[in-house]
Amino acid sequence: MARLAQTAGLTDVQQEILSTVRDFVDKEIIPHAQTLEHGDTYPTDIVEGMKEMGLFGLTVPEEYGGLGESLLTYALVVEEIARGWMSVSGVINTHFIVAHMLKYHGTPEQKQRLLPRMATGEVRGAFSMSEPELGSDVAAIKTRAKREGDEYVIDGAKMWLTNGGTSNLVAVLVRTDEGAEKPHQNLTTFLVEKPEGFGEVMPGLSIPGKIDKMGYKGVDTTELVFDGFRIGAEAILGGEPGKGFRHMMDGIEVGRVNVAARACGIAIRAFELAVEYAQQRRTFGKPIAEHQAIAFKLAEMATKVEAAHLMMVNAAKLKDSGERNDVQAGMAKLIASEYCAEVTQEAFRIHGGYGYSKEYEIERLMREAPFLLIGEGTSEIQKTIISRGLLREYRSRG
Ligand SMILES: Cc1cc2nc3c(=O)[nH]c(=O)nc-3n(C[C@H](O)[C@H](O)[C@H](O)COP(=O)(O)OP(=O)(O)OC[C@H]3O[C@@H](n4cnc5c(N)ncnc54)[C@H](O)[C@@H]3O)c2cc1C
Repeated sequence: MARLAQTAGLTDVQQEILSTVRDFVDKEIIPHAQTLEHGDTYPTDIVEGMKEMGLFGLTVPEEYGGLGESLLTYALVVEEIARGWMSVSGVINTHFIVAHMLKYHGTPEQKQRLLPRMATGEVRGAFSMSEPELGSDVAAIKTRAKREGDEYVIDGAKMWLTNGGTSNLVAVLVRTDEGAEKPHQNLTTFLVEKPEGFGEVMPGLSIPGKIDKMGYKGVDTTELVFDGFRIGAEAILGGEPGKGFRHMMDGIEVGRVNVAARACGIAIRAFELAVEYAQQRRTFGKPIAEHQAIAFKLAEMATKVEAAHLMMVNAAKLKDSGERNDVQAGMAKLIASEYCAEVTQEAFRIHGGYGYSKEYEIERLMREAPFLLIGEGTSEIQKTIISRGLLREYRSRG
């Protein structure tokens, strides 16, 4: 049979991109991932390599200097990168979400000004919805922007901003008073352009420092504090206030396919490590892969890798076709992240005591997999989205 997680019907261009990325992952990411991760070191050289390959512009339309590739290509690239090291996929994920939001919702001026520089990686995107007191309940956002003439004044605190310090463009969802009845209709996305770095980076805008995390190291995750921060009304995404929730939810659908792709990448790597180790390690006179209990684990792990990959590809294709894909993206994210946690856990068990040693890659994957159960909406939130969609589609006629 073919190797796991193959995708039928790819174009020559897609195949060439994937083969280049796979080669980069094998040569430039996997050999360095353990050291960089254990040191919580930002992967500067890897990021430069990705810039050179044009990966920051992968989905940016050609008219703005990008490669104009589909969400499917992007998802397959992310799967390859996460197979090497999830943190590297974290560097580009928020960038793609912001590029997507700009491409579909930005004003012509915003697109013209930002997308060409996003394509080269000169402008690097992050997105911010979560706050210290809320993550799932986005409509409850408290950070507020008050209009004063042609400007807005923003006050409040944001939490869990991936690439907070290393980005220079943050799409931030805040509350504006549009007088709408529903809370989510009073939310607006601002495009905050800021310098990279930590501390008070602009008057009224601070990035206190990196949050110390269990895994997903190297990439910076930060708070973002607004204290009387002034920004022009022209920085509103799309130019019109009150549309931010819709913009962000569109971006998050891209993010969910991305998280599913990352989960597939980690699960593939966990399987690769397990299947190799199981043929090397001997107990009771034979390789452990020849004990049926271990062979069956490998069979179940590989089946989960395949199922997750197919669901992820399906969700990406649907979004590319322009169809609503909230249910499929939710399903793909749900199953891929849950399977990833299970496959990683099984690979860890197959490694016996060595899985607990920092010398072995599986130790890192064990700390990375749980994040995927949370990021871009927890499994409970995915089930809420999926069940709502199903009840809409299968409405009772009784
Ligand atoms: C490393 C990292 C990076 C992140 N990066 C970003 C980023 O770049 N930008 C950003 O905006 N956010 C980011 N986040 C935030 C992330 O999106 C949130 O943590 C996530 O949405 C969950 O929100 P919460 O932590 O507030 O949990 P809560 O919403 O408080 O949920 C707590 C628990 O309650 C459950 N729960 C909540 N509501 C319901 C319900 N209605 N029904 C059933 N169960 C429910 C949840 O599933 C969860 O188990 C990041 C988080 C982490 C850990």
